[in-house]
Amino acid sequence: MVPMFTARQRVILRQIVSPPYIYRWAGLVTTIGLMVGVTVVVLADVGAPTVVAAGANPAVSSAPAGIRARTVEDAPAFGMPGEARPAITPSLLSVTSTTTDRPTVALTFDDGPSTFTPQVLDILAEHRIRATFCMIGNQAVAEPAMVQRVVAGGHRLCDHTFTHDATVGSVDEGLMSTQLGRSHQSLATVVNPPVSVDYFRAPEGKWSPQLDHVAAATGMRPLGWSVDTLDWTQPGVASIVQAVQRSVHPGAVILFHDGGGPREQTVEALRQVIPWLQDQGYEFTFPT
Ligand SMILES: [Zn+2]
Repeated sequence: MVPMFTARQRVILRQIVSPPYIYRWAGLVTTIGLMVGVTVVVLADVGAPTVVAAGANPAVSSAPAGIRARTVEDAPAFGMPGEARPAITPSLLSVTSTTTDRPTVALTFDDGPSTFTPQVLDILAEHRIRATFCMIGNQAVAEPAMVQRVVAGGHRLCDHTFTHDATVGSVDEGLMSTQLGRSHQSLATVVNPPVSVDYFRAPEGKWSPQLDHVAAATGMRPLGWSVDTLDWTQPGVASIVQAVQRSVHPGAVILFHDGGGPREQTVEALRQVIPWLQDQGYEFTFPT
């Protein structure tokens, strides 16, 4: 009878079935390492605003004491791709970086919080999308619960000055710094625990190089826009919707207003234009 294995093959087989302890340990450590690695990758995908990105944000170090960057546990249950925190530089940001295969847009809302903000938040929640709210500091201080709701929804805050001061871009740099510091601090600390305020948007878009510089020095990225819906003029729902449909492009930063006057038209336009954007394949992200 011919043996099934040679003596040498039997030795090799025995080592495979019952390997030396050093290999068993190596196998165990490798398996645990792989499991930990997979878990980290999965969690990073789910917890959208990543800790890594927040750590790289100079705003964290320049933010007033006690203000923390958002962390994974702040993220709502749904994630969005391509949402790195903005680099804090004095250059005006008016497009989002498209880091996925699908085109992205960023929705931004100015002049809140107001009584219309909850309606906007409801629509965003219904579609599981997040946006950036450029708030007026004194309104935010008067309505802390509304700011808390914006933050709890996973949205980002943008400083729109404390009093919607359209002259802030032309005052001397010391005063500019005081004003932005005050509004930034107010917004960041109106909710507990305090949150980071990533962006600054000049009222009426009245930018100046000094204002860009001071905003960045205060830890905020100047935030412009590339699609203006002119919703604040109350031109009619159809006009607001068409402004988006006509001008939207991959990476667009779209300007709406959730405050500063009656905003029923904006709310209704959002109900129509968000599904339209989704039908076009757009994903919703933050300006970066
Ligand atoms: Zn405004």
